[in-house]
Amino acid sequence: MKIGVPTEIKPQENRIALTPAGADRLVAAGHQVYVQSDGGLGSGFDDSAYELAGATIVSDADSVFGESDLILKVKEPLKEEWARIRKGQTLFTYFHLAADRVLTEGLMATGAHCFAYETLEVGRTLPLLTPMSEVAGRMSIQAGAHHLEKAHGGSGILLGGVPGVKRAKVLVIGGGVVGINAARMACGLGADVTIMDVNLDRLRYLDEVMPANCRTVHSSRFAIREHLNHVDLVIGAVLIPGAAAPKLVHREDLELMGEGSVIVDVAVDQGGCVETCKPTTHANPTFVVDGVVHYCVANMPGAVPRTSTLALTNATLSYTLELARLGGKAAVEQSAPLRTAANIIGGQITCKAVGEAFGMAS
Ligand code: NAD
Repeated sequence: MKIGVPTEIKPQENRIALTPAGADRLVAAGHQVYVQSDGGLGSGFDDSAYELAGATIVSDADSVFGESDLILKVKEPLKEEWARIRKGQTLFTYFHLAADRVLTEGLMATGAHCFAYETLEVGRTLPLLTPMSEVAGRMSIQAGAHHLEKAHGGSGILLGGVPGVKRAKVLVIGGGVVGINAARMACGLGADVTIMDVNLDRLRYLDEVMPANCRTVHSSRFAIREHLNHVDLVIGAVLIPGAAAPKLVHREDLELMGEGSVIVDVAVDQGGCVETCKPTTHANPTFVVDGVVHYCVANMPGAVPRTSTLALTNATLSYTLELARLGGKAAVEQSAPLRTAANIIGGQITCKAVGEAFGMAS
């Protein structure tokens, strides 16, 4: 099959959907791979690395879309890309269609087959969302430590302290993929870490695997308020699948936290679990409410495109190989994971959640 990888054109998006190592695997499986010139530069991969892997470099997006049966992307196609998509072509990328009717209708009109990373499900897990949660979870502690520095608006406390000086208190609310990755980083830096969840089985697991400077606590309004008292860094990491994040830290709770303490609300992409959270950008990541620094960047992995591109391809490649082997229509019939990824097939919505979002049949 002919597989195309265009340059991402969304502002500040420096990831690319395929690494040279991924291209090598696809070529070895008998496919032809077309990569847009300089598309990998933002992630540190130049054209020669793709050529070495057996891919063909093409000069522009029109050629990539024109040549290929399967298009691999990172972000949803923007309007200027829609005209390049043709009937029967297969697209594999993050779409987040349920949040965007215009995009959904635009893609239905193209007659393409749209497979979404974010809905691909294996045994009740979402393996193509996991790597980005791992990145965001780990980054959240870096961001928190940075903003705790005095020069960046923080109280001036070092997460790990030093001998004779107490370590910082970190509260991680939500012990899923983001939460465990955040807690691991904070523990590694020597902080005094508490991780909360409502799922007792998850707490049992965390209790077993986390180091001694991490304690687990069952999440409740009472426990959250108790732990906010004199906390230095709070990480918001909850998720209720398919719903907006519950507001677990209220405005009046901020007075429990000291001046210059920091909140990193990773759940901001689902509305945030802190009442005072609103989305920010990498260019202007923080704002202050009642003396508490809020970091609420909705696309945290975008800041580390090299790591994020590698992590994404590691997760997508086996499904890309399957999709390329079967082709769009047959993949829906023959592959259980790819069936869950199918959002639009030949102009028809095939994902229940997307159909329900717009009152359309699926
Ligand atoms: P996950 O499903 O792995 O974990 C969520 C955890 O929250 C679960 O363990 C669940 O039991 C727990 N939870 C639910 N209600 C709770 C409550 N009231 N108190 C405490 N815990 C509660 O999800 P994840 O992959 O860790 O993602 C977490 C959030 O981070 C999501 O909103 C996700 O979209 C977001 N995210 C944001 C970025 C970003 O760049 N900002 C990147 C990746 C993920």
